[in-house]
Amino acid sequence: MGRLTQKTALVTGSSRGIGRAVARRLAEEGALVAVHYATGEDAARETVESIESDGGRAFAVRAELGVPGDAHELFLGVEQGLKERTGEAALDIVVNNAGVTTPAGVQPEDVTPEDFDRLFAVNAKAPFFVVQRALPLLRDGGRIINISSGLTRFASPDQVAYAMTKGAIEQLSLHLARHLAPRGITVNSVAPGVTNNGSDLFDIPEAVAQMAQLSAFKRVGEANDVADVVTFLASDEARWVTGAFIDATGGTLLG
Ligand code: NDP
Repeated sequence: MGRLTQKTALVTGSSRGIGRAVARRLAEEGALVAVHYATGEDAARETVESIESDGGRAFAVRAELGVPGDAHELFLGVEQGLKERTGEAALDIVVNNAGVTTPAGVQPEDVTPEDFDRLFAVNAKAPFFVVQRALPLLRDGGRIINISSGLTRFASPDQVAYAMTKGAIEQLSLHLARHLAPRGITVNSVAPGVTNNGSDLFDIPEAVAQMAQLSAFKRVGEANDVADVVTFLASDEARWVTGAFIDATGGTLLG
């Protein structure tokens, strides 16, 4: 029996990349997973199908985050999907994973107010309101896991605005951990380093070799390296961990 049997989970941005790996791992452990996406309908369907072909349970939910009414739209789909499958709209695990980055090479001098607002809307504001909207559905003993980045502790000037959004999501974990502890709900941040999300960049051997040097293990992270950490935090074994920043950078922050 899996560690998450009878549990329900929402993973934002789980059509591909790290989110997909998280959705697959949570489902492997027995959770019913809401696979959220914005534009990648086929990719979300593939995620659901791969979970089902392994004997797990999942359903896809579409909602664009970072726009007015985003959390409301997301939860209309989540609630409907949960009710159809379990008879109630109760959640145990929320993973705020969906995120956008600054295009590589954009210097701080060139970040526009529009770019800045968009980054904060998707990476910081949306997770706050996703959590706020999730709270009435979240069972006592639940889990909130916010995907941050090693860039909150590793200077990379062309990612300053993005890193600021991740600093914000770490604050969400810290303060809500205190707020939700009376209900036994834990709230933690997981910070990946460079992680193969299946994008074209990871098909370029020279680029991968260069990025690999950042990790103490001299390789880039795989999505499952991060998904395993998230799955641990989602499990009962992590009941005593809350408000934590979990470094999942493969030793990148060791310097
Ligand atoms: P990907 O770019 O591979 O996937 C992003 C996911 O988020 C997709 O499912 C996408 O859905 C969804 N998404 C993006 N924008 C929106 C939006 N506006 N509304 C709703 N959904 C959206 O991401 P990664 O796997 O690389 O990253 C996952 C998380 O990990 C992010 O928070 C990222 O900041 C963080 N991270 C990643 C690192 C890495 O090296 N990969 C390093 C450190 C942190 P769709 O395709 O349907 O639009």
